[in-house]
Amino acid sequence: MNTMKKMLRVLAVEDSEDDFELIRNELAEGGFTVVHERVETATSLKTALEGEPWDVVICDHNLPAMNSISALKIVRAAAENLPFIVVSGLIPDETAIEAMRYGARDFIRKDNLSRLTPVVERELQQAATRADLEATQLRLQRVSHFDSLTGLPNSEHLFVHLRSMTLSTGQERPFAIFLIDLNRFRKITKTLGVLAGDKVLLEAAKRLRMALGEEDFIARLGADRFVAVVPHLEQEAQAGEVSIAIHQYLDEVFQVDGQELFVKASVGASFYPKDGLEWGDLFKNAESALYGAKADGGSSFRAYKAEMDSFGKERLILETALYHALEKKQFILHYQPQFDLSSGRIIGAEALVRWQHPEMGMIPPGEFIPLLEETGLIVPVGEWVLRTACAQNKQWQDAGLAPIRMAVNLSAMQFRKPGLSCAIREILRETGLYPEYLELEITENIAMHAEEMVIAILDELRDIGIQIAIDDFGTGYSSLSYLKRFPIDKLKIDQSFVRDCKGGLNDGGIVMAIIGMGRSLKLKVIAEGVETLMQADFLKLNGCDEVQGYFYGKPMEGGELARLLGCDVRKCGVDAPW
Ligand code: C2E
Ligand code: MG
Ligand code: MG
Repeated sequence: MNTMKKMLRVLAVEDSEDDFELIRNELAEGGFTVVHERVETATSLKTALEGEPWDVVICDHNLPAMNSISALKIVRAAAENLPFIVVSGLIPDETAIEAMRYGARDFIRKDNLSRLTPVVERELQQAATRADLEATQLRLQRVSHFDSLTGLPNSEHLFVHLRSMTLSTGQERPFAIFLIDLNRFRKITKTLGVLAGDKVLLEAAKRLRMALGEEDFIARLGADRFVAVVPHLEQEAQAGEVSIAIHQYLDEVFQVDGQELFVKASVGASFYPKDGLEWGDLFKNAESALYGAKADGGSSFRAYKAEMDSFGKERLILETALYHALEKKQFILHYQPQFDLSSGRIIGAEALVRWQHPEMGMIPPGEFIPLLEETGLIVPVGEWVLRTACAQNKQWQDAGLAPIRMAVNLSAMQFRKPGLSCAIREILRETGLYPEYLELEITENIAMHAEEMVIAILDELRDIGIQIAIDDFGTGYSSLSYLKRFPIDKLKIDQSFVRDCKGGLNDGGIVMAIIGMGRSLKLKVIAEGVETLMQADFLKLNGCDEVQGYFYGKPMEGGELARLLGCDVRKCGVDAPW
């Protein structure tokens, strides 16, 4: 015979010691080692429920201080799943039905105790099944409502939360939604990989928890976007304080795999009920504010304003149209001539892209290049620009025009996508243009980030004879140390400094300094944005090599530049100091 007995922890709600002794014997005979506590009042029942973890409650129906139904209510409030069995004398049917409604599992008459053991066993089994089910449900709920990486609530959960906030609070209880976007996240995953990106997200989630209060609801919406719902906030000033806390935490350097990373965040906020009564509107408006903050760049914050709507809509329309612009052949190139200051000859042209939209007209690059960059479309469009500019230059040469160098602008994103130098070599091969007639304009910021990778690409390009110019020089980091390390040929002085050359005694200091810097590093120097004779004189006097600007020629269609190339510029009506 199996002597191993099962331990059974019984909470007995029973006023008769003798009756419980009978119950206990019955259970012992059924193979249980009974540990029990006997209670008679509501208070002692509550205390007992707080203490031990019980396997079963066995309850008499009629007690001096309460009956089985009131006991059941107390038990259900404390332990939903705990088996509750009434062992009693005769009770009326209505009482039995009511007890069942509250979750009593079975009735056993005191004169029929032989049923007790099988009922307890069945109940223990069912309670275990219910517990398993609950655990599974909980796990499923976690999966469907929480982000598996950060453990934060996910979008599903957020929308349920927002819906309940907007439905239940009533308009007298305001709150704010903050949308938080990590600015440099894409760049980090691109250069350091997805795992490093995950570490940044985990750390960002942790920091957001620290930045925000316990009452605040924080969710991750996927990618690098987080949301915080902060109750009792109704004004921009208060929201500004929250965003300062968020920025303080997220702007701190991140340490990932021994690397120091600066992430920075853009934050947009909208307020309930001021900016919308429905959670969908609030969310959309917070998104508009976020776009506004992103446009400001760096770590910035914007609260929603009604006028942002039109900005968001315009942007959406522009973005959609931009997706089709390349296939619909809506991009065109204009060419702006570049002149040698001592000879006065055209020695180059800069290709500048324009978007000719059938309804919106000619859109300047300042309005769509940032969008192309954000959407990644700059890569195919940039390739189109390169191919078209090289083909155009070759065509002029084939037509017998004096050969010039074609300058093409490159975006940072084109450097990030592998294969840039291959693509350029392929374009040169396809079009038949010699590499010395191609010049690439990059900005200082491209040169400063991911230095080694950029240097390697530039080395490859320069090895085959392509020229490299630093565009908008002077507006970025302008550090001498990188100028020495980077394989470059030319500095292009930014137009803002050229504009300063007004002929006054202290004007043009920066321009002179850049020309001197170029000379000592043996780099050519070109000035862009030359608009007046005075500026042209100043540049010539100070030894600038080349010029480009409205004074000499605006960006123009290919045919027009060809005409200019075909004649002697000095006779083309440009009254310049050569
Ligand atoms: P950028 O490369 O610095 O080009 C010079 C800009 O100054 C051009 O504006 C040109 O039209 C303008 N400009 C030239 N001379 C003068 C002048 O005398 N006075 C004034 N006020 N402006 C002058 P645009 O064509 O609007 O291009 C703006 C920027 O867009 C360019 O600046 C460049 O960064 C970017 N961009 C243009 N085309 C491309 C392209 O194909 N690829 C990339 N990645 N960027 C491009
Ligand atoms: Mg340029
Ligand atoms: Mg420039």
